[in-house]
Amino acid sequence: MGDVFRSKDWERSSLGTLETWSAPLRFAVIQCLNSQFPIAVYWGADLNTLYNDGFAGLMGGDNDKALALPCKEAWPEVWNNLKSNFDEVFRTGKIIRNKNTVFSINRHGSLEECHFDYTLAPIHDLDGKVVGILNEVNETSGRDLQDTPLQQRDEKEIFELRRERDSLKAILTASNQQQRVVNETLNDLNQELKVSQDELSLAIDAANLATWDLNPVTGRFKGNDLLKSWFGLPINQDIEPSLATEMVAEYDRERVVQTIQRAMDHTSGGRYDLDYTIINPINPEPRIVRAKGKMFFDDNNQPIRFSGVLQDVTEMKQDEQRKNDFIAMVSHELKTPITSINAYLQILHRMAKKNEDSLLENILQKSIKQIVRMTSIVHGFLNVSRLESGKIQINLERFDLSKLMQDVTEEFMASTSTHELRFTPCETIWVYADQDKIGQVINNLISNAIKYSPQGSMIQVSCSTMDQKVEFSVKDEGVGISDADLPKLFERYYRVNTLQSSNISGFGIGLYLCCEIIKSHQGKLWAESELAKGSTFYFTLAAVD
Ligand code: ADP
Repeated sequence: MGDVFRSKDWERSSLGTLETWSAPLRFAVIQCLNSQFPIAVYWGADLNTLYNDGFAGLMGGDNDKALALPCKEAWPEVWNNLKSNFDEVFRTGKIIRNKNTVFSINRHGSLEECHFDYTLAPIHDLDGKVVGILNEVNETSGRDLQDTPLQQRDEKEIFELRRERDSLKAILTASNQQQRVVNETLNDLNQELKVSQDELSLAIDAANLATWDLNPVTGRFKGNDLLKSWFGLPINQDIEPSLATEMVAEYDRERVVQTIQRAMDHTSGGRYDLDYTIINPINPEPRIVRAKGKMFFDDNNQPIRFSGVLQDVTEMKQDEQRKNDFIAMVSHELKTPITSINAYLQILHRMAKKNEDSLLENILQKSIKQIVRMTSIVHGFLNVSRLESGKIQINLERFDLSKLMQDVTEEFMASTSTHELRFTPCETIWVYADQDKIGQVINNLISNAIKYSPQGSMIQVSCSTMDQKVEFSVKDEGVGISDADLPKLFERYYRVNTLQSSNISGFGIGLYLCCEIIKSHQGKLWAESELAKGSTFYFTLAAVD
């Protein structure tokens, strides 16, 4: 701009030649031209405009276009915005500082919205009168970090970093707090776990249980000391599964292996419950155990854990055996005298009848009924013990089941006045079975229906055939059986424990025998029942041509 000033024809300007300029004007212009920053000087009442390179650049770079023109001609687009500022400086003599103010500047051929920080400072003459204005300008349009002066930028960055650091500190404090809470909860849980573990160990010790755990992925098989001692395995070593299997008595081994293999298949539910005998070479005394185990599977049905417990039931089994032996022996011993008494009673009954001694005849009739009951109880026990020792004999023959049903039912009809017995006859059904034993089953089911239902109620005996199968049923309107008792009915010595049944005598062997008999004929026996409404017992057998 120095060149432009020098070559300018000042004579034709309202400011006159340079030599005529007052000292304050000269001083201000020199200051302006020497400055690196955009500065303009507005001089006199018309505010004639003088400026340096920086300022010319801001205004679009057309250096001499506006030089020495009154401000309102030089920058008409900003005049309206600035006029009041200029007036104020002239009036008050005070500096005006404005930040990031918007001006529409006509530069580079179009109107541009620009932002500026600027000051308007009064220039005084020697008398202190305001005669001009010094205008320093800094463009702030589109300012970002890159345009920001380095120091400002650093401060901004430092500020941001501090803010970030503070928020990180806050996050860290909060997460430390959470961590502390989590740690405390974990400690509490660990404590609880330890207590439960101690309690579990105590219970396992007190119950004298052997425990084991197999990891199917690694194949590692662990067991407690008791388990190792039962299997005769070294205490301080992991267990080799095949070695443990070898200690299972030979007669049980295959059954054990098959049951465990079945449990390993997720479709089986993963559980098993079986009794078997262990014979180990260190202590060859056979030990009978009840083993319960469960395989755990992941979401993809892959085995992840297999655990189990074993209980020594040797003594219990021996007691059971002794009891069974005793029952078998007593029943066997009772059989002969009961048969003799029955025979004597029959003779006496016939004699009383012949002598027309009705009182005696009646008493003997009742005695015979009781002896028949006793005979059936004794036979029941004998059958249980025979069944247990595998001595029960099934004598198969082809016979008409509907005829057998009719015979047995009619026998009941003749001797029962307390209940209404109904038999729905069906056509001839040939079966290949043990007639006596099937008769015994039908007998048992009907006598139970009578035993467990109120006087006057109805009992319906019926049968049907379908798909080469015959289905026999006895329906009563009796006390019924709860869902909890239904699956246990066919266990040996199982009796339902209710107030009503406690008044009815029995040993819980009838249904067990029925079930075993039907099973030995490859048939099925089951019951459906509703408490206080009645029960229906069914069995099926294969029909033959
Ligand atoms: P019990 O000699 O006790 O009758 P069972 O083996 O024949 O022995 O029956 C086992 C149990 O099943 C009985 O104690 C009884 O509680 C129940 N039960 C059997 N039949 C019926 C039935 N028809 N209605 C209700 N409960 C029955």
